[in-house]
This record gives sequence, C-alpha cells and structure tokens, in this order.
Amino acid sequence: QGHVRFEAVRFGYDADRDILKGIDLDVPPGSTLAVVGPSGAGKSTLARLLYRFYDLTGGRITIDGQDIALVRQASLRAAIGIVPQDTVLFNDTIGYNIAYGREGATELEVARAADGAAIGGFIASLPEGLNTRVGERGLKLSGGEKQRVAIARTLVKDPPILILDEATSALDSRTEAEIQETLARIERGRTTIVIAHRLSTVVDADQIVVLDAGRVAERGTHAELLRKA
Ligand code: ADP
Ligand code: ADP
Repeated sequence: QGHVRFEAVRFGYDADRDILKGIDLDVPPGSTLAVVGPSGAGKSTLARLLYRFYDLTGGRITIDGQDIALVRQASLRAAIGIVPQDTVLFNDTIGYNIAYGREGATELEVARAADGAAIGGFIASLPEGLNTRVGERGLKLSGGEKQRVAIARTLVKDPPILILDEATSALDSRTEAEIQETLARIERGRTTIVIAHRLSTVVDADQIVVLDAGRVAERGTHAELLRKA
C-alpha cells in the first residue's frame, strides 16, 4: 500500500507559466524517493500536488492506481503525512499539538486512535525533557524540539505515505543529524518522498531525482548520480 505515481504531470500557478513541465515518477510502496535540485526548481510544488493543494494542468497522480483527483480530501489527508521545514505549532500544549494530527485523519482512524494510549505512545517517543512537559502551556521550544513535535503529530495518523519537505534543513548540523536518525526509523515501511537541498543528506534513498526548472534533469541512486557528476 502507498504506491505513488506521477504521470506526465504538468502544473503552473499562472496559466502562462508552467512550473512543472511533464514529471514522471514511480515510487513503489515502502520505498524512498528523494527530490533534490536548486531553489525554485519546483520541489515543494511537486509535494503540494500529491496532497492536492492545487489541481494539475496536465497528467495525473495516482496512489495505488487511483487518480487522486477522484479521492476524497479526507482520505488523502489520512494517507499522507507531511513534515515541513518550518513547523507552525499552536500556542498550546505539546499534547494538544500532537493530538491535532489525529483530527486530519478519517473518522475510522480517529476512532482507532481515540483511546488515548495511541497518543501516549507518541509522547513517550519524545526525548527526555520534552516528554515530561506535554501539558505545559507557553512553552518555548527550539527548532529541533518543534520538529520532534511535528513528527509526532504526523505519526499519530500512521500515514502509509510520508513527505519530508526540507524537514531538517533549518536546523544546526548536530540537531539535523539527530532528527535524520529519527526520520530514518519512521520511514521504514512507508512510501517516503524526501525533499532535500543537498545530495549528501539522501544517500540511502532508493531513487533520487534531480529537478531543474520543472523537469527531471537526472535520476538514479546516489552512487549512480555521483558517477555521472
Ligand atoms: P523549490 O521547492 O524547488 O524551491 P518551489 O516549488 O517552491 O521550488 O517553487 C517553484 C517555482 O514556483 C518558483 O518560481 C516559485 O517562485 C513559484 N511558486 C511557488 N509557490 C508559488 C505560489 N504559491 N504562487 C506562485 N508561484 C509560486
Ligand atoms: P520553498 O523553496 O521552501 O518552497 P519559498 O521561499 O519558495 O520556499 O516559498 C515560501 C512560500 O512562499 C511558499 O508557501 C510558496 O508557496 C510561496 N511562494 C513562493 N514563491 C511565490 C510566488 N512567486 N508567488 C506567491 N507565493 C510564492
């Protein structure tokens, strides 16, 4: 479950300028696709299209063979978890912010997770120092702590598909390494699309595409791309 395909996908924010100019991607269930490329190449746009923020200009995107244009928005939100670069948290407790992730899920998933034990598990997964403060208000969290809460919030709905949109690029390198480790663990068994600035952070991806000006300029594994470079 979680087979993502882009078929000749075209999209532009303005009718007269395509940002994505015919993108073909095949991300088998449970595999990791990394999308790298210069700023403005269209990486975030590509991720937003999978979440159906916008309608395509051409082509189609399917999940398990189903055109996402025909899937209910609630089902899409349940199937896809996003960890963005800059997480905006509610000015509330950590517990509230994590539980909120559940609200985006389908009714069935909410019911399944509603026993509280589910959220308890995610709170327990927070690092020491954070897990004891879940009920505190007016918390001042560092960037790394915010990303940990964002990850827990995303995992509450146990999505088969995960989008990491530069999830660690705003962090200092030590925090980045720590959170990369956590992410590698939660990616297992999920179809993952990682958007990254640098090739060096996506060494383990099953496939990497280099996006440039809305087209796939290169694709391959890390080793293959290094050989070509
Ligand atoms: P990347 O993630 O690779 O940096 P983006 O997908 O954010 O690239 O942006 C690709 C292009 O689309 C850029 O030229 C950017 O300015 C433009 N763009 C992004 N978001 C919007 C938007 N909401 N409205 C109009 N243009 C946008
Ligand atoms: P990123 O490269 O990480 O996507 P950007 O700085 O390109 O970040 O974009 C930040 C925000 O500004 C995004 O929400 C994007 O949709 C919006 N944005 C980017 N370019 C444009 C644009 N040309 N017109 C309108 N909104 C834009």
